[in-house]
Amino acid sequence: MRVANTAAEIRRQLKSLRGSKTIAFVPTMGCLHEGHLSLIRKARQMADIVVVSIYVNPLQFGPNEDLDRYPRTFENDAKLCAEAGVDFIFHPTTLYPKSGPKVTLKATKLSECLCGASRPGHFDGVVTVVNILFNIVQPDIAIFGEKDWQQLAIIKRMVSDLQMAIEIIGCPTLRESDGLALSSRNRYLSGGDRTVALAISKSLIAMQQLAASGESDIEAVKAVATRILHNAGITPDYLDIRSAASLKMKRKLNRQPARAFIAANVGNTRLIDNMPLEFVAQTEEF
Ligand code: AMP
Repeated sequence: MRVANTAAEIRRQLKSLRGSKTIAFVPTMGCLHEGHLSLIRKARQMADIVVVSIYVNPLQFGPNEDLDRYPRTFENDAKLCAEAGVDFIFHPTTLYPKSGPKVTLKATKLSECLCGASRPGHFDGVVTVVNILFNIVQPDIAIFGEKDWQQLAIIKRMVSDLQMAIEIIGCPTLRESDGLALSSRNRYLSGGDRTVALAISKSLIAMQQLAASGESDIEAVKAVATRILHNAGITPDYLDIRSAASLKMKRKLNRQPARAFIAANVGNTRLIDNMPLEFVAQTEEF
């Protein structure tokens, strides 16, 4: 496994391999956990060469967010990458000019809801950095987690709108055995906060169960989830049910793919999670 710290270095390393071999790319902000490793394993299965980037992108953090305290654990990350069969780590110190970038990308309409509404500019920062990384690495395939469903939807749309020849693959969310979605930010949670945080996956599961039992009324489904969150002492930033691909609001659950989304602060930590809702119409009994 080789580690590159500059764009020129990783370009040089990949140059001779390009063309004859396929490249799968996994962009991350480091502090790697099993969720990231599941993406890396998928990349390993799908291509000849696996490139992982580790870069905490300042452009996607708001002024009062956790950029400075975001966990940075490069040595351990590199060890995990080596064990998982990664070929190249791209670990730049910065990707922007000292004075800051003067040309950036703007995310699509898909960024106006959910995390985009609560974190203005966040997805502009994400699409800008992912573009820069794609330009440097020039992968055939890039792998993202469904944990950040809105991000995945925006990246898919970016690649099609900007005619990039990169296949985007989404991977399911990895969870602790009690349901908590793995996240680099979970390490901020105190023991008590962690117990409280469980209400997020519990309320998503409750929504799944209601949808599967034929409940089509979105307000009724959301009310049950809200109660579970409130009982745990959580007031969510958002709790929403939307179409899975367009992220448009749904009026009723039906056979079209829908997803439930929650963002909430637990202690000082912002957590997000989402799950698919599979509506099953109940047939009338005679
Ligand atoms: P991050 O380092 O948080 O920017 O995440 C890097 C990639 O890992 C993104 O595509 C995330 O969606 C994905 N990811 C984060 N947590 C999980 C998880 N629990 N399961 C699967 N993928 C994840």
